[in-house]
Amino acid sequence: MLTPDEADHAIRAHLRPLAIESLPLLQCIGAVLREEIGAERDQPPFDRVAMDGIALASHAVSAGQRHFRVQGVQAAGDAPGVLVDATHCIEIMTGAMLPQGCDAVVPIERIALHGGAAKLEDGLDVAPWQNVHRRGSDARAGARVLGAGSVLHAPEIAVAASAGKASLRVSAQPAVIVVSTGSELVEPGDAILPYQVRRSNAYGLVSQLRLHGFTRVANDHVVDDAEALRRALALHLETQDVVILSGGVSAGRLDLVPQVLAGLGVQQQFHKIAQRPGKPLWFGTAPSGAAVFGLPGNPVSSLVCLARYVLPALRAASGGVLQPPEVVALAKPVRVTPPLAYFLPVRLVRDARGALTAEPCPTNGSGDFTSLTGTDGFVELPPGPNEYSKGFVAAFYRW
Ligand code: AMP
Ligand code: MG
Repeated sequence: MLTPDEADHAIRAHLRPLAIESLPLLQCIGAVLREEIGAERDQPPFDRVAMDGIALASHAVSAGQRHFRVQGVQAAGDAPGVLVDATHCIEIMTGAMLPQGCDAVVPIERIALHGGAAKLEDGLDVAPWQNVHRRGSDARAGARVLGAGSVLHAPEIAVAASAGKASLRVSAQPAVIVVSTGSELVEPGDAILPYQVRRSNAYGLVSQLRLHGFTRVANDHVVDDAEALRRALALHLETQDVVILSGGVSAGRLDLVPQVLAGLGVQQQFHKIAQRPGKPLWFGTAPSGAAVFGLPGNPVSSLVCLARYVLPALRAASGGVLQPPEVVALAKPVRVTPPLAYFLPVRLVRDARGALTAEPCPTNGSGDFTSLTGTDGFVELPPGPNEYSKGFVAAFYRW
């Protein structure tokens, strides 16, 4: 059986990179950038006034001058004025280009304006370039301001806008479908019999995918019937990039998923991982190139496998710069029995020094997903010791 890391590698080795599309800037939030962005102009593009006040020639102050005739007003966005001579100043606004002949700005709070003249506060020194954000001091025209593989959050979107980009080349959304299987499952809202079960996995899985930025997520349901499963999957394999099944991958007579997928030419890459919960996880690739994940039907297992394998693999296929998983220290010692990797649901809590720690929230087995409410994710405890001490540092996966 594969270890979780071996399974991870096997999945990534078989996942095709996502296509690139060009999207208007405001539709790129959360997407992975697939091009390099250079500064459109020097940053700032001109010597930029950083305070409301007056612009003047600082050498006049060094020579003892304290009163300056106000020759005019220049707002942000106005073409720059030209200082008549060093006895004058120009009233100036934050964001304006420094007028020609000036090299410093004195804030409005440090002057008195009277009868068309500005008097400097007693004792005030004026240094060259004070309150001026010099042209090119942040970035030079053409310098890289965003690299391919960056995830576009608010600062990156603002930087792209400042570089003059109305649209960006980003990873296209993969077409993903969640297909739940099971004859016992009944849709929320429909009447249910005592021996039936609510179809909850698809709702959890679709929600988790959407929460992590995947927007093209459909879902379907199929009963445990080989022909029905074959028909549904034949279509989905042709039309989707990623097919995520829940249920039907264990050893029961009606766990039909592996054999139906094989019949459709889907190449099994692995079946089963040395982990708990989620041991029966199945992964393969279709002739169409679609990736197929067969998640175990137990609700805890399906959510854990999505967060541990599917979401990171989709992120990698997006071309994002690969980030190691977050790590977090256990807030309490933990005892677990199986000699397999163990996924333990946790709640993040701050310790006395403000550091995040993981408070264990064990479930009552892999079918008990009511105890997942209020948890933030789970930690991966490596196989080996049965006892993990308080402070043990483990990889953390967020729901
Ligand atoms: P399976 O992997 O199909 O053997 O299912 C394992 C357990 O998970 C069974 O108790 C199923 O009833 C339950 N289960 C499977 N799929 C779902 C689902 N979509 N929603 C809720 N429970 C499910
Ligand atoms: Mg089933």
